[in-house]
Amino acid sequence: MNIQLIRNATLIIRYGGQTILVDPFLAEQGAYPGFPNTANQEKMNPLVGLPVPVADIIKADAVMVTHLHPDHFDQAAVDLLPKDMPIFAQSADDAETIRKSGFLNVQTFEAPAKLGDITLFKTGGQHGTGEIGKLMGPVSGIVMQHYDEQTLYIAGDTIWCSEVAEAIGTYQPQVIVVNGGAAQPLGADPITMTKEDIRQVHKAAKYATIIVCHMEAVNHCLLTREELRSHVSDQGLASKVLVPGDGETITL
Ligand SMILES: [Zn+2]
Repeated sequence: MNIQLIRNATLIIRYGGQTILVDPFLAEQGAYPGFPNTANQEKMNPLVGLPVPVADIIKADAVMVTHLHPDHFDQAAVDLLPKDMPIFAQSADDAETIRKSGFLNVQTFEAPAKLGDITLFKTGGQHGTGEIGKLMGPVSGIVMQHYDEQTLYIAGDTIWCSEVAEAIGTYQPQVIVVNGGAAQPLGADPITMTKEDIRQVHKAAKYATIIVCHMEAVNHCLLTREELRSHVSDQGLASKVLVPGDGETITL
């Protein structure tokens, strides 16, 4: 498989003969205000531009949307993606919302679902703790299995939690994509993974390659790539926990 980080949680994955666009957040740099009541809310999102032409990003065979927060499926994605693009959503509710934007070919990855010879499974997650976690609404991850590929688990916007541990236990993925950045609401716990969370993922799946995205692209993500890279290197985990830059492709 090839996994190209575009920006934030937006990925282009070549897997099992398909090109899959995950969590398209396609606006130009600075198109939206910062998330209210979060760290650095005065900064405009996205903090950085797209590293490749948007025309290349939207050429996918299918799109997968882990949840509908605007840093995962934004107005630019609604405007730019062809309306007949196959889209997989986490739930019937999300699928209906996406259909209301004019998309004609929307299904869920709940069932499990199939895309060509790839089987998709939905996994759970927690987008924060306590009241903030509830306020953030349901989030999901996606597991992909194919007879010619290693099992891939995209955890989505979640902290380390029992749902992530369960997904690792159930599917034994060799490749795990997690959303780092330690996104920080004001006065609450982070809503995406911290470096400690990422170490927990590693402890639960020591055999796996972990790819960390959702870094340095939206206002409230405080964990930088430099800090995470030096942390994983201090822990002797630099070969197991990869922290790609925007536009970088990892082949596994
Ligand atoms: Zn996010």
